[in-house]
Amino acid sequence: MARSTEPACKQCRREHQKLFLKGEKCYSEKCAITKERPLPGQHGARRQKLTEYGMQLREKQKAKRFYGVLEKQFADYYEMAAKRREGTTGDNLMQILETRLDNVVYRLGFASSRAEARQLVTHGHFTVNGKKVNIPSYLIKEGDQIAIKEKSKDSAKIKAILESTDAKPVPKWLDVDKANNNYTGTVTALPTIEDVDLPLEVHLIVELYSK
Ligand code: SF4
Repeated sequence: MARSTEPACKQCRREHQKLFLKGEKCYSEKCAITKERPLPGQHGARRQKLTEYGMQLREKQKAKRFYGVLEKQFADYYEMAAKRREGTTGDNLMQILETRLDNVVYRLGFASSRAEARQLVTHGHFTVNGKKVNIPSYLIKEGDQIAIKEKSKDSAKIKAILESTDAKPVPKWLDVDKANNNYTGTVTALPTIEDVDLPLEVHLIVELYSK
């Protein structure tokens, strides 16, 4: 499973913003960005002003970091998005990224971060429409049902995760059933760009690839 080996907090420091890559820690005082002192000078004025290309590149890097996707796969997703007959490339790109199984597991609250979701998926803790799927990049479709495997529900680790994410809101394109220890999520609609709550300027990514 190819993934970035750069430490999570270092990735946030590079982007000068929280990317929420470590679950609970990201919401605590322990977060490296929360603890970060302002740069000397007024409000970090020392930070370099980016060129247009620099801004486009940063935005792509940020998107890759948010979803934990490497360069080649991100470029493949862009190509896939551009080839779709309907929708704009930017909207399609975000939809593809959002519908990765690891992201859906995270959005459903079955993991506290995308990195954790990726690991849990790889370890075979989830089914899609009743069949085990252990590929984090698996793209889910409208109507798909994602569930925690029966045996995995007894795992202390998974129980602790579910407890910690219990109050986390679930996006409106997903429906989660936690009653009677069910822990099943249904994709009621495919996500649109409005459903993506990440601070990303997708048009900059499209401009970068359109050059
Ligand atoms: Fe980023 Fe989370 Fe680390 Fe904070 S704790 S720097 S948000 S990964």
